[in-house]
Amino acid sequence: MARSLLRAFPIQQLLQQPQQTRSWELAEPVEGFESLTPVQGELTVRHGHSFLEVTATAETIVNLTCDRCLCCYNHRLQVNTRELIWLRGETPELMEWEPEDELEESLPPDGSFDPQQWLYEQLCLALPLRNVCAEDCPGPAQPESESPPSVVDDRWLALAKLRDRLGE
Ligand SMILES: [Zn+2]
Repeated sequence: MARSLLRAFPIQQLLQQPQQTRSWELAEPVEGFESLTPVQGELTVRHGHSFLEVTATAETIVNLTCDRCLCCYNHRLQVNTRELIWLRGETPELMEWEPEDELEESLPPDGSFDPQQWLYEQLCLALPLRNVCAEDCPGPAQPESESPPSVVDDRWLALAKLRDRLGE
């Protein structure tokens, strides 16, 4: 497997590859993404005529700050993902993807694909929404969420009045 650097390359180059596929062994930090260890794993891009299929398994360790106690802690980040990227303008009868596959991204077929940028985005997406160092985080305990101010709908108020009247 090529251990070349993750660099943007012309999408059409994939058509000359065996199985229209290129794979990378990941063993380097990802540009712009702060991690304590290199990002390790594998990334594969396949040209499926009207789409690119990108799959990756990657793992690294990031240092996060706990939202509750504000302490730093290490977190093992794992990415195990597959994404289909539509190649705009390609004939739809060549579509091979399943209807449930979501195609949110698209690229021009004569454009380039940047595996490093793609991996960067996947790593960012894999970051936890809430950083909590441990289940028994010492705190300071913060309320899970502010309880919304109690808004009494007019209709409920009218109903309550009616109920009061009937109760008299
Ligand atoms: Zn904590």
